[in-house]
Amino acid sequence: MRLELRAITKRFGSLVANDRIDLVVEPGEIHCLLGENGAGKSTLMNVLYGLYHPDEGEILVDGEVKRLQGPRDAIAAGIGMVHQHFMLVPVFTVAENVVLGDETVTAGFGGPLGWLDRRKARREVREVSERYGLPLDPDARIEDLPVGLQQRVEIVKALVRDAQVLILDEPTAVLTPQEIEELFTVMNTLREAGKSIVFITHKLKEVLAIADRITVIRRGRVVGTATAQMSEQELASMMVGRAVQLVVEK
Ligand code: ADP
Ligand code: MG
Ligand code: MG
Repeated sequence: MRLELRAITKRFGSLVANDRIDLVVEPGEIHCLLGENGAGKSTLMNVLYGLYHPDEGEILVDGEVKRLQGPRDAIAAGIGMVHQHFMLVPVFTVAENVVLGDETVTAGFGGPLGWLDRRKARREVREVSERYGLPLDPDARIEDLPVGLQQRVEIVKALVRDAQVLILDEPTAVLTPQEIEELFTVMNTLREAGKSIVFITHKLKEVLAIADRITVIRRGRVVGTATAQMSEQELASMMVGRAVQLVVEK
């Protein structure tokens, strides 16, 4: 799936969090969105997930303009999202959370849920877990899981809904180095399966390790595209908008 954001502008009062942002995510690529804290990365992704209504601009999926008025619309369009702060119900199990999904959680459990088909839920969790290398116990309760596995539940939730573009908002911030390696393996598996990933981070080493393409944003604007062949120094300078001398750790 090819995703295109055209001139997205999002204001909060007088603050322009996203200023005419253009972004194209090609099928099967890991696209890093790089920017300092407050640059506007999460805002842009919340627009893409239908959580914020943009003031201007449009979103196209495979060339077709989409009006995304909530996660339900975004999910239907093939977009999945793993937030920095998970959207999970702690007292429910992995399988239960996977069936409920962001569309139910963000709707405040608005409609009749009916009885959950737990057998189907477990099967879906197992299938997706095996296919993409994301082992999980469907019957574990979220509150009993370490944060790395909670994140896995979020990824499985999106993949069960057949996400073609997966947004990962600062996923490595909560992970150990070992878990980061595991996540990168999963990201590569997803790419091989033809899925696209928008990987948000401000850690240059991670970007250079995994990106196919890099878009740098600063103060709500796209300030350039970079390649994984650039040096950390060049990337850092682009990110903060002035020449940066990186200190080499010994
Ligand atoms: P990033 O994810 O790159 O760290 P954000 O998109 O979270 O940046 O924030 C961009 C700017 O928009 C920041 O100045 C932030 O304070 C502001 N902002 C984000 N969300 C809101 C909101 N819901 N209301 C008001 N201001 C917001
Ligand atoms: Mg931030
Ligand atoms: Mg953010």
